[in-house]
Amino acid sequence: MSDARRPPEVDRAAASRRAVAARRERAALKQDVAMRVITPQQVLRRALAAPESPVGALRVTEFLTALPAIGAGKRDRILADLDISPVKRLGGLGVRQRAALSQWLDTRFAPHRPRAGRSRLVVLAGPTAVGKGTVAAHIKDHHPEILLSVSATTRAPRPGEIDGEHYFFVDDAEFDRMIRDGELLEHATVHNKHRYGTPKAPIEKALAEGRTVLLEIDLQGARQVRAAAPDASLVFLLPPSWDELVQRLVGRGTEDEEERARRLRTAKGELASQGEFDFLVVNDEVARAAAEVASLAR
Ligand code: 5GP
Repeated sequence: MSDARRPPEVDRAAASRRAVAARRERAALKQDVAMRVITPQQVLRRALAAPESPVGALRVTEFLTALPAIGAGKRDRILADLDISPVKRLGGLGVRQRAALSQWLDTRFAPHRPRAGRSRLVVLAGPTAVGKGTVAAHIKDHHPEILLSVSATTRAPRPGEIDGEHYFFVDDAEFDRMIRDGELLEHATVHNKHRYGTPKAPIEKALAEGRTVLLEIDLQGARQVRAAAPDASLVFLLPPSWDELVQRLVGRGTEDEEERARRLRTAKGELASQGEFDFLVVNDEVARAAAEVASLAR
């Protein structure tokens, strides 16, 4: 290239920084899809809305192999079936190709549709460290019309926790008695440690009065509520990105490598259960996520 046509040094440095940032954004996005933090349909929508953005520049081949359970062989068959050239980028798909890809995604990754006939019993669950407790506490403070259920637990109170307000702190014998007498709607051992359960009576009373009841419980508990009360509304709280969840899970870096890996495996498994839920809410900002959960609870 002659000197006259070569971009100035500063431009090239800026362009290469932009390219690195764009690559990083695409990598994070692919990871979010792989970990099911966002749906493939959302990625496609974002790419089509901004074809010039890093997501718009994602190749269809990269996009497809980032999807759960799609390898190179399947990817090539899908592209051939949909009549899309492997060199295409998401933002550059033609109208017919967009429609074909979008339809294929909907058959393969069923879009979330709340089922009809939901009751006022709302369950908030999600992966460990996603911030369920904070969102539930925000709802309690800002929506006095919603009853936040107080669970029973066998763990000891932490400083500042009040019996009957944060939990009913009970011993193993009392917890066993509550189970035996059918006082719990659901109960589970959480993190292989302590037992937690939802007392049935206050919930039944509040529902009978026409109030909305919110349970902030773990995934095992959410499944039991689904079985016991099939018309309950199950809400799954999602992190804004996989990286963000990793930060919240292992951010302090005080765990050893094995513990770190174990937590990440658990989180991946927990995220995979979101399909069992009626609503997905992203915890990008506590007040916003809380308002969204509260609006579902009507
Ligand atoms: P923590 O001990 O930090 O307050 O709560 C630990 C975990 O127990 C949280 O993930 C919370 O969702 C879950 N949990 C709290 N109460 C209940 C409950 O009544 N039932 C079930 N299944 N899980 C609960």
